[in-house]
Amino acid sequence: MEILKVQKLTKIYNGKVSYKALSGIDLSIKKGEFVGVMGPSGSGKTTLLNVISTIDTPTSGEVIINGQNPHALKPEKLAMFRRQQLGFVFQSFNLLPTLTVKENILLPLTLDGTNLAEMYRKLESISEKLGIADILNKRTYEISGGQAQRTAIARATIHQPQILLADEPTGNLDSKSARDVMELLTRLNKEEEATMMLVTHDPQAASYCSRVVFIKDGELFNEIYNGDNRPVFYQKIINVLSVLGGDAHDFSPVRI
Ligand code: ADP
Ligand code: MG
Repeated sequence: MEILKVQKLTKIYNGKVSYKALSGIDLSIKKGEFVGVMGPSGSGKTTLLNVISTIDTPTSGEVIINGQNPHALKPEKLAMFRRQQLGFVFQSFNLLPTLTVKENILLPLTLDGTNLAEMYRKLESISEKLGIADILNKRTYEISGGQAQRTAIARATIHQPQILLADEPTGNLDSKSARDVMELLTRLNKEEEATMMLVTHDPQAASYCSRVVFIKDGELFNEIYNGDNRPVFYQKIINVLSVLGGDAHDFSPVRI
């Protein structure tokens, strides 16, 4: 079953000079797939994710999520659609600093008026799974980057969205935390059959995906599948990236 279907998607930014950031993209993601999107800096990765997540609108073409075109929804219905069907994870975590870890995770459920017992049952299960059960009462400035991203993943998945959309989720993490986060996403993908789309510069992170789609100059360039051997898949990714070109520094993020 297809969770996401993108058809002939084109995005033109209209400024003083108009710029075609996406050109006729076709992409389908099935339930339970974990898809990575890679490409040189400026190739349109974030634009693609933003148009899919309805943060931005397409110039032409269609986005269908779980059988619905979110861009055709009225603002109120769209807000509900995003809260109930989508999960977002960003490079910069986007947690609210005045709230505790627990409050950050529960926020989307509070907005939907889920009952308390149900909320706490979900909180317990997700925080165990993500290894953050012992920091639930801390504020976000008291936790590490890795813990912050795991909190953001808990917030993005507690309502079991149709699809989790992540833009460079490991971009601000050291390599150990990045690995932890990717292993957790892989577990959520396998154990809960969570469908995920992840934009990344990092071939190490991408090697956890079940499929990687490459874009170049706003067009699909290639896609490769993970045959369940991560080191082999990593090497395949590196090979495509070397053909794809772009600046070398795009693909070897400096880690702190
Ligand atoms: P990536 O995430 O792959 O680095 P982006 O999707 O951010 O690429 O950008 C693709 C292209 O579109 C780039 O050339 C960028 O400069 C341009 N672009 C992105 N956002 C805007 C915008 N809001 N207005 C005009 N041009 C934009
Ligand atoms: Mg980007």
